[in-house]
Amino acid sequence: MRLPIYLDHHATTPVDPAVLAKMLPYFTEHFGNPASITHGHGRKASTAVEDARIAIGRFFGVLPPEIYFTAGATESNNIALNLVQPGQQLITSAVEHKSILAPAERLRKRGAEVAFLAPDREGVIHPEALLAELKPSTRLVSIEAANGEIGTIQNIAELSRVCRERGVLFHTDMTQAAGKVRVDLSHVDLASFSAHKVYGPKGIGGLFVRRGVRSDPVVIGGGQERGVRAGTVNVPGVMGLGAAIQLRAAEMDEEAPRLAALRDSLRAALLAEIDGVSVNGPRELRLPGNLNVSFDRIEADSLILAMKHFSLSSGSACSAGERGPSHVLRAIGVSDDAALGSIRFGLGKSNTAEHIEMLVDDLKRVVRKLREISAA
Ligand code: PMP
Repeated sequence: MRLPIYLDHHATTPVDPAVLAKMLPYFTEHFGNPASITHGHGRKASTAVEDARIAIGRFFGVLPPEIYFTAGATESNNIALNLVQPGQQLITSAVEHKSILAPAERLRKRGAEVAFLAPDREGVIHPEALLAELKPSTRLVSIEAANGEIGTIQNIAELSRVCRERGVLFHTDMTQAAGKVRVDLSHVDLASFSAHKVYGPKGIGGLFVRRGVRSDPVVIGGGQERGVRAGTVNVPGVMGLGAAIQLRAAEMDEEAPRLAALRDSLRAALLAEIDGVSVNGPRELRLPGNLNVSFDRIEADSLILAMKHFSLSSGSACSAGERGPSHVLRAIGVSDDAALGSIRFGLGKSNTAEHIEMLVDDLKRVVRKLREISAA
């Protein structure tokens, strides 16, 4: 067995070899700039990029010209939030990724009003909470489709319908959900996604923008991507994103129940075999590969260090450098002590029942040892 075993698939995923194979020719043989339509090299690249746009649009059930390529979901989220002007209101939630929270905070400093909806104990944002905040100045509502720490899947169909009925634009950060569970975009106006969460390369992602909606770009210059994202298009990246999405279309329906079953067996074993374990987040509406658990009288950092055979994390990789309890766990009412003793397990394609067995054995041993040391 190859060690360490990777159990951090919310942070990123390996590029699937089939995806890499689709990318490689676009570094060397088909290296053209898709904007160079005066010659065959450019047209070859341009055709390939547009084919990827068609495949991605089809997967998400939207029109290909409504898909714009970006440098990843962080950039897509920033572009979406640029819709809000000073004096207008943004409604988002307390459990969003930092790439929503940071631009939301900046908007507030620049004179926009920002409301952060509180989730329930499972991380769910309820339409009633949203309705209570909507007002005539509300320009945009931004709610993630699934949470990367506790796996909560939001009812995007319902939340976006409430907004559509009132003429308010709705954005969803579907970075953790896309390609893992279906996201209903019928009433959604903008949606962000990223290739590296679904076995594609890093540094490439996309933003769905419904026809007729216009947001200010973050990167301006040569007007590529019809002005939404300037800069020469990352053609190999787009090939990787397109291939990764097509692979998800073929694999996700089978993979989701397999991962959910592995995750459920991990949850059951931890609860049965280790004292002082509590599960954070939802019971049912949860990403298939996600489990978030707090261990009493344990510091997650020490546990992760001692679990040498596994690549684990305590929360979002983007906040991993920061000390202190996760903002997501805090928002769902987990105590700071329990939050600092929490591990986020992220199961993916390569994980097997054998990995889970070994994980539970190692956790049992390491948790016991750490508790002995701290009690001494
Ligand atoms: N949103 C969510 C929910 C995420 O999990 C991440 C990645 N951790 C991002 C946005 C940022 O994506 P990217 O790495 O493509 O910028």
